[in-house]
Amino acid sequence: MYRPAYLELLVTGELDKRIEKLYQILESCELCPRRCHKNRLSGERGYCGAGAQLMVSSYHPHFGEEAPLVGGSRGLFSTDGFGLTPSGGSGTIFLTNCNLLCVYCQNYDISHLGEGREVAIDEAVAMMLALQNRGCHNINLVTPTHYAPQLVKAIKLAATGGLHLPVVWNCGGYENIEVIKLLDGIIDIYMPDIKYGNGGAAKRYSNAPDYFDRCREAVREMHRQVDDLRLNQRGIAYRGLLIRHLVLPGGLAGTKKVLDFIASEISKSSYINIMDQYRPAGEAYDYPELNRYPSRQELVEAQKMAKELGLTRLDEK
Ligand code: SF4
Repeated sequence: MYRPAYLELLVTGELDKRIEKLYQILESCELCPRRCHKNRLSGERGYCGAGAQLMVSSYHPHFGEEAPLVGGSRGLFSTDGFGLTPSGGSGTIFLTNCNLLCVYCQNYDISHLGEGREVAIDEAVAMMLALQNRGCHNINLVTPTHYAPQLVKAIKLAATGGLHLPVVWNCGGYENIEVIKLLDGIIDIYMPDIKYGNGGAAKRYSNAPDYFDRCREAVREMHRQVDDLRLNQRGIAYRGLLIRHLVLPGGLAGTKKVLDFIASEISKSSYINIMDQYRPAGEAYDYPELNRYPSRQELVEAQKMAKELGLTRLDEK
């Protein structure tokens, strides 16, 4: 049985050192490339809207994530070599606020409007252990970037209390590489979005013109740490990199550049979910070019591009 990396760091005491370093960053916040330099510990809030305290919108087993996280074909059962077995789902914890704040955010209420409630670290620990007790296959931290110190502290305390599931860092891809380095040996599965392959769209829709540069740095480091996604004999992921890319209408996401980067600089064996679920949401109605669904043709084209680049490990719906 796979033993998550953080259990090693717990034994050596390294986990405490990382927590200390992460909390130091929070004093003049540089947890993400926006580098707001707000003293989050004293309650100041930066661009993301997050303060000192963790905020959680919801937590539950999720059966709509990628099959290697859910433990089946996005359903309640997996038909693996063991026959029809119940799927435990992915143990998602949805964090409130976001450091990217895309205008078309598909979870607008949580990211922009701050839906959720403040949660003490002990309660976050209890959530992790409850998800494990429910039979989930992993702890899936959704939009964790702006709460890295608090979450790593919760992982440490949960590990002390018996947590032994791999932790998924399910982020928007706008990361500070120095923070990602501090997560080395703590996170087993990185699941970044690569949202844009060009600065223009990143500026217009996420106010982050350096998005692709920062994202590429971070994804290279993530891959260096955990390599390609590995599955156990039941088809469940236990370590590695899983990349998501949401296709925007009209080629706005720069899909070709994103896929080129993955194929040439990460690995042709990268597990990639080319997501087709974009719908106009949030402020997208104010941007005529975003105010429609991607066409069937655009989605087929994205899949075709990936295959032509030799990227064949694509998530199957
Ligand atoms: S995490 Fe939030 S406060 Fe910290 S640098 Fe990023 S946007 Fe600013």
